[in-house]
Parts: sequence; structure tokens; C-alpha cells
Amino acid sequence: MKPKYVYFDHNSTTPIDPRVLEEMFRFFGTEYGNASSRHTLGTHALRAVETARGQVAELVGVESKQVVFTSGGTESNNLVIKGISSGSSPGKILISGIEHPCIVKPAENLKYQGWMVEKIPVSSSGVVKTKTLKQIIDSECKIISVMLANNETGVCQPVSEVVDIAKEYDAFVHTDAVQALGKIPVSFKELGVQALSISAHKLNGPKGVGALILDKRLSINPLIEGGGHEDGLRSGTLNVPAIVGFGKACEIAHQNPTKIKKNVAPLIQALDKKLKRMGATIFGCNETRIPNTSYFSLPGVAGETLVIELDKAGFAVSSGAACSGNKAGPSEVLEAMQVNTDIAAGAVRVSLGISNTLEEVMGFCDGLEQIFNRLRTMSAIA
Ligand code: PLP
Repeated sequence: MKPKYVYFDHNSTTPIDPRVLEEMFRFFGTEYGNASSRHTLGTHALRAVETARGQVAELVGVESKQVVFTSGGTESNNLVIKGISSGSSPGKILISGIEHPCIVKPAENLKYQGWMVEKIPVSSSGVVKTKTLKQIIDSECKIISVMLANNETGVCQPVSEVVDIAKEYDAFVHTDAVQALGKIPVSFKELGVQALSISAHKLNGPKGVGALILDKRLSINPLIEGGGHEDGLRSGTLNVPAIVGFGKACEIAHQNPTKIKKNVAPLIQALDKKLKRMGATIFGCNETRIPNTSYFSLPGVAGETLVIELDKAGFAVSSGAACSGNKAGPSEVLEAMQVNTDIAAGAVRVSLGISNTLEEVMGFCDGLEQIFNRLRTMSAIA
């Protein structure tokens, strides 16, 4: 019998829930209308989009009109940085030192439009230093972006504290909640931010769809102009099947944080225990993490090599942020945490999903130990 392939890379992407797929199928088939058309088929599509908007809104505790559908987390992050900055005279933008490249790049490009761009440092365990934020924030600061949970370490960030600090300076606060949604409870209101980015494929929905959630009072410039869809904020014929799937995934995801805490967190605890016994460094393990993630480094073994060997043994894991393209080199997140380069070179990320089991995790630990021992022996001989 072919050995089972075990997927431990849910921060990269998740499998589509069959219930999501079922909802989507109809809108690829008989319900192919354009949501902007006035006839019956168009009205069906529009109704489905608005149902999905309500489902997304409910998951993050906002009104439907605050949801702008986009092509995913990358577009939502670009839209917020470019859309807010272009409506203002240049000032200071502060982003955390561990943001995803789809925040870092648009923010850094603002330099060419006269903006000052600064990174808020993080501690050695990967938490944004709010004390330093208090020192570097001033009346010039107009935009702050700090993610809710880091995609590599899984470490949760003090976003509400950032909001409190920003209030005094009337700075706009955005959070990238792409990795947090569906793993921990996310409430737009409780966070107090003005904008929040999410993506469907991280919570068992389809790829290529996401949303930017905006404060009701906010006006923002669009990235994509045209027919004025999404209240003029994102033109282009709506991807109805994807949006419907996103809505369904959000409806299902209400129970996920509870299930993850109950069923997945103990698996990560078991994995971490085993990793520590093997002499691993586990990044951010004493901080609050999204409960599905363990990011570690074993001494003397390159992360890339481990990922390849683990894949051969039937386990899909990642050596860093898979969604940052094919870029090689040390993780910028670990660099920001000032992790020693040899340790950083060994980084491997395990990110579990709701259906992973203790048996799979134990099988992984055995496989990892065997591979680790073999690679160490080989490097000792060489
Ligand atoms: N933000 C974070 C924290 C992510 O981890 C990712 C992708 O992994 C993105 C944004 C980009 O989202 P998308 O793949 O939907 O473009």
C-alpha cells in the first residue's frame, strides 16, 4: 500500500472544505450570471455575493457594507497601504519588522513619494515591541500596520495595544489577519483597528479571493478602477464562485478556533515536547501563538534539506514563508528576531489543520528523528 501523505503546511494553504466546493459548483455551472446584470441570472449571482458578504462580515463582527472583496490577502494589503497613503500628504508609516512582503513592499515604495518608512522592532521571541513604538511614533505618523499573527512563527501580536498608542496621534491602524482568521477569534471591533485583511484559502476556502474590512467612516482610493464594483473600491466583474466559497468557508469557520484550541493545540504541545528533547530551538514557543504552528530549527541540519527529506517520507512541511515566492536565503522574520544565522538556516515550519491527528504527529516525530540522525551521521562522516 502506498504510504499516506500527511499535510502539515496549513499556514501556506488549506484544503477546500467539501461543503465549500459544493456551494461553489453551482456558480460555475447553471448559475453563471454576472452579479452586475439586472436579469434573473444576474440577480441570483448578486444575491449569492451579498449572502457571502454577510457571512464574511459576521465572522469578523462587522456590517456587510464594510467588506470589500479582493483577490486575496496580497491585494487587500496593497489596497490598504496604497489606498490610504494616496489620499494623504506624505508622513510617516510604521510597519512591524515581521510583516509579510505584501505589506513591506508597498510600504517601502512609499519612500519614493516622500514618506518616511520605519520598522517597529520585535523581541527575540518575535513580539512587536510596543515600548519602542511609543518612542518612535510622533505627530508625523499617519499609518501603522502590524499583523495579528505571524505566518512563520505563529506568534500573536499586541494589535490592540498598538491601536491604543496610535489613538493619541490619530494614526490609522491596519492589521493583516490572514493567518489569524479561523485559528483564533478575530473581532474587528474588539481590535479597534480601522482596516483588516483576510484571505479565503487560509480557512479551507478557495484561492484567489479575500477581503479588506474597512471602518465605516473611511474613504480610501482604489487600486483597480473601472466599472465601479465594490462601491468603487475594486472594479472588475466579481468572481462569484470564489466569493460564494469564501462566504461558506467563513460560515463554517465560526467553530474553528474552539476546535483548534481543543484538538490541535495538544498536538503542537506534543510535537514541541519531542522537538525540545531532540535539542531543537522552537521560535516564539513561550509566547502566545496561533495554536496550530510550531517553527523550529534542529542543530546542524539545513531547513531546506529537512523539508525535502520529510517530503520523501510523506510529510509536507515548509522551511519558511512558502507564499513569499521562490526567494532563497534566511527568513526575514528570523532576521528581525536577531536569530543566529546557523540556527535560522535550519528553520522548519509545521502548521497543522483541524483534521490532523496525534498519530500523524507521532509518525512525523519518528520520521523526523530518523532523518535528523541520518543527516547528522552523514555530516559527521563528511
Ligand atoms: N499575509 C500573510 C500574513 C500571509 O501569510 C499571506 C500568505 O501566506 C498573505 C498575506 C498573502 O495572502 P494571499 O495568499 O491570499 O495573497
